[in-house]
Amino acid sequence: MGEPLNRPVPLPQPLLSMVREDRLVHGLCLEGEPGSGRAALALSLAGAILCQRQRGEMCGECTPCRKVLAGVHSDVILTDGAKDPESFKVRPMRELRAAAYQGPSEGRAKVFILASAQLLSRESQNILLKVIEEPPEDTFFIFTCDNKYKLLPTVLSRLVTVAVPPVGEEECARLLEERVPGKAPEEYREAALLCCGSPGVGEEILTQPQAAKRARAARSLVEAMAARDAYGAMAAATPFEKSRSEYAALLETAARLAAAPRLLEEKGIPPARGAALRERLLTAAERNQQNGYLPLITALLGVG
Ligand SMILES: [Zn+2]
Repeated sequence: MGEPLNRPVPLPQPLLSMVREDRLVHGLCLEGEPGSGRAALALSLAGAILCQRQRGEMCGECTPCRKVLAGVHSDVILTDGAKDPESFKVRPMRELRAAAYQGPSEGRAKVFILASAQLLSRESQNILLKVIEEPPEDTFFIFTCDNKYKLLPTVLSRLVTVAVPPVGEEECARLLEERVPGKAPEEYREAALLCCGSPGVGEEILTQPQAAKRARAARSLVEAMAARDAYGAMAAATPFEKSRSEYAALLETAARLAAAPRLLEEKGIPPARGAALRERLLTAAERNQQNGYLPLITALLGVG
C-alpha cells in the first residue's frame, strides 16, 4: 500500500533497459534532490515491475497498474521516513523484513519502497542488511534519498544507484500548473526556472511567499556573483543574515541555480564559471555551518 500516483513517470534510460531486458537488480537507490519526484519514480518503477503487459514502462491500464496508481496494490509497500518518522523505527523495520520473506500476495513480485532513506538510523539499516544482501527472488527494494553517501557503506554497496533526472522546464511548468492551478503563465515559467527541475520545490515557490523570496534572492545572488558585482551580492544575501537556517537555505538554492543550464545560458555565464560560483557558495555554506560571521561571508561572496 502506498500513496496514489497521478500518472506514471517515464523511467530514465538505465532503469528502462534494466526492466526491458529483465535484469532489474533487487536493490536500487534512486538519488535526487528533494522535490525531484523520487517517490513518484519509485512508484512508477514498482508499476513497471508489476504490470501485466511487461513492456518496460507500466501501461497504466491493466489491473495491477491501476492498483499501483490508486495506491492500493498490496504488494507495493511504501514507507516514507520524512512523512512518517515512526515507520523508520526499529520495530516497523523488523516487521518489514519479515514481510519481505513472505513473498507477494497478489502480484508477480513484492516491492518495498523506502522513501527518504537518508533518514534511516544505523540500527534500522542494519536490520535490512541481510535481506537486501540476499533478497528473495520476487522481492525488490527501492530506496530513495537525496544523497546516497548518507546511507551506511555496507547498505550502499548492495544497491545500484540511479540518479533521478531533473524534470525539463516545460514539463515542470505543466506539472506545476496541474498541482497549483490558477496562477499566471509567467508565474509557472518563473517557478519552473527557479526550481531547477524539482517540481516539489517549484510548488513551494508558488505557494510559500518565503520560498519565492528566497529563490528570487538566490537568482540575484548568482547573477551578481557572475557579474563580480559585490554590492549586488550583498543586497541579495544581507536580508537573510537574520537566521542561519534561512541563510543556509539561500546558499543551497543559489548553489543549485549556479549549476542550472538554463540560467547560465540566459545570463551568458560559461558552465566553468557557474561551477566555480557553485564551489564558492558551498564554501560559504560550510562557513555558515561553522558559525562564521555572516556579514563577512556575504562580503566574500561578491569577491572574485
Ligand atoms: Zn500495466
